[in-house]
Amino acid sequence: MSIHINEISDLEFRIAVNRIQTAILPIGSLEQHGEHLPISTDSLIIDYISTKIACEIQAFKLPVLSYGISYEHTPMFNLSLQSSTLLSALSDISCSLLEQGMKNIIILNGHHGNSGILPYISQNIAEKISRDSNIYILNYWQFMSDRFDHAGKVETSLLLAIAPDLVHMEKAKANTKHLKKSKIAYAAFGNSPGSFPRLTGNGVWGDPTEANAEKGFALLEEIISNTRSVLFELL
Ligand SMILES: [Zn+2]
Repeated sequence: MSIHINEISDLEFRIAVNRIQTAILPIGSLEQHGEHLPISTDSLIIDYISTKIACEIQAFKLPVLSYGISYEHTPMFNLSLQSSTLLSALSDISCSLLEQGMKNIIILNGHHGNSGILPYISQNIAEKISRDSNIYILNYWQFMSDRFDHAGKVETSLLLAIAPDLVHMEKAKANTKHLKKSKIAYAAFGNSPGSFPRLTGNGVWGDPTEANAEKGFALLEEIISNTRSVLFELL
């Protein structure tokens, strides 16, 4: 039986739900990733990681939710939901899954701009769900030793491993402004609308010209293995 929940029948689901009570919901974004990566970069990365994890821990995998909160990339391309809309959508999806018999929902996030609202899903639906159900929030960059970037070495290497046909290395350029402020100073911008192009110049954080597929495969191995270890602690 497929672990992809959208590929199985109602009957297959009813039988499987007796032994599988964990669902993985990947969430990504649709936003500019420089001139060399597709707008679906975050969604492709988190969908790939989620499929691997779901196979390994025998959980249902949901279709990736590609619509996220990306106003920080304005006026560059972004398709964005308001934070209250994403919170409502994820709350509804979680309630629905719990009603179908799931006990654990793992939200695997691939986009930094989504992360602020995710801890509030449980609070939002606390009165509607049973106390023995769990909603766990994990961001994939928590599981790698490299520093997270945007269309830089990390994300470009990941895409070179996952979807090389969608990467145009001949167009890869490092950020055009020198990012010399402290981490705390950059965090103070709080993903405010338009902040990303303002800070980076060309919408890239990091240097994608250093990326390669080998690095991408190594990162994926590290992320998947560390995620699995934490899930064994949680489940
Ligand atoms: Zn990204």
